[in-house]
Amino acid sequence: MDGVSSDIQFKVLGGAEEIGANCIHLSIGGTGIVIDAGLHPKHRDLRAFPNLDALHHEELDALLITHAHTDHIGGMPYLLKKHPYLAMHTTPLTRDISSIMLKNTVSLINEQIEYSKEMQDAISLYDKDIIEYISTVFETHLYGESFEILGKRGLSEILCTFHDAGHIPGSAGIILEWNGKSIFHTGDMCLHDQWLIPKARFPRHHVDVMFCETTNGSEASHATKVSIMKECAQFINEISNANGSILIPCFALGKTQETLIMIHELQMKGMIPHLPIFTGGMSTKISRLLDRYCYTSPRLNPGFELSDIPQHPIPYESLSKAPFFGTPSIVIASSGMMHAKTTSYKLALQWMQKPNYGILFNGWQEPDSPGYALSHSEAKKPFIFAGHRIERSCAVKTVRMSAHARKADIHELIRNIRPKTLVLIHGETESVEHIAAETMEYFDGDIRIILPREGTAYQV
Ligand SMILES: [Zn+2]
Ligand SMILES: [Zn+2]
Repeated sequence: MDGVSSDIQFKVLGGAEEIGANCIHLSIGGTGIVIDAGLHPKHRDLRAFPNLDALHHEELDALLITHAHTDHIGGMPYLLKKHPYLAMHTTPLTRDISSIMLKNTVSLINEQIEYSKEMQDAISLYDKDIIEYISTVFETHLYGESFEILGKRGLSEILCTFHDAGHIPGSAGIILEWNGKSIFHTGDMCLHDQWLIPKARFPRHHVDVMFCETTNGSEASHATKVSIMKECAQFINEISNANGSILIPCFALGKTQETLIMIHELQMKGMIPHLPIFTGGMSTKISRLLDRYCYTSPRLNPGFELSDIPQHPIPYESLSKAPFFGTPSIVIASSGMMHAKTTSYKLALQWMQKPNYGILFNGWQEPDSPGYALSHSEAKKPFIFAGHRIERSCAVKTVRMSAHARKADIHELIRNIRPKTLVLIHGETESVEHIAAETMEYFDGDIRIILPREGTAYQV
């Protein structure tokens, strides 16, 4: 459909009916805007990157980044190598976190990517100097502060505003206004308070087009903060009473800090004993950075610093002799999905041999990940963990501690916004279809809903 004249047109280049290499191209009055450029959490070949072939013949002027999770920024070096002149915009915190996250992506890519010729070309872009450069060229904007995006043709002035999306520190939803029309992209959003950060603060006015994330679109029920804390406390008490330690595998950005505060609150409320807490690695770097923004970035408890919570460093060089194998402790380690060679993976191998130890899962597990296999395993029954047949003796527990909007809250937001066109993204097929069906019924068919296909152009 290239060449079709239309005021506003978009293509999804990743993250259509899945949580993938999230990336969208918008053409607004001839100005080209890309929102996010992610790396697929699962694929380790060229499908790991956004489908840039679909950008052929498209205008490209600006890149807007919603937040610093790898599925939204991990493909940036790949995009910028091909399109180096994009004006880049994000929030100050996302710019700073991106720098840490992209450096980590370099190691991830080098360890896990398949070595085809095409992939070698792609990964050669993940060079530390390029990563350093990326974080210096971002133009940053505070929440609520509007700025203009001017296309190369100088034709169209688009007004852009970031709004706090409540998903992780620095995360933003985006409003674009042009020629009397408005577009709202939610980014990844959380519409309930977590432990560190408050819920999203989105404007609730009508828009012409709404891009909405649907991660939890098919959830049957959701857990409240109180019920999550009770479940975690019960498990931690059971394990520590048996003289065991608790391992919590967490994403380094967002989930680690939320978990740390939740555990601290459990201790302060006397719901669990003051066991030593072990943290470290990239998540500690991120926590230190977030502490620098403890007054300027939205917080439930402004000024509180993560470093005020007593923590011990995970001894990476001598894991098997670590103190948590002698004294009941809580260990928060990445990766969240226990990918091979990561700290949580190495620790899980040892945890599984100890009947009095416990592993607490509190984050999303990709169905092919080692973490998914372990969290769904039965004690003393063999299962495949990162390619190895294994049995576990330790206890395993899963709690739902999502940093994404709950289904009911997604519906409420859509009903308040009343978009003329709703584009559903960032969710598995089941989630997207659930939200689409219920929304269509609510509006009695008086809404256009698009479940986009990757690479297809849609006029809106
Ligand atoms: Zn995210
Ligand atoms: Zn995401």
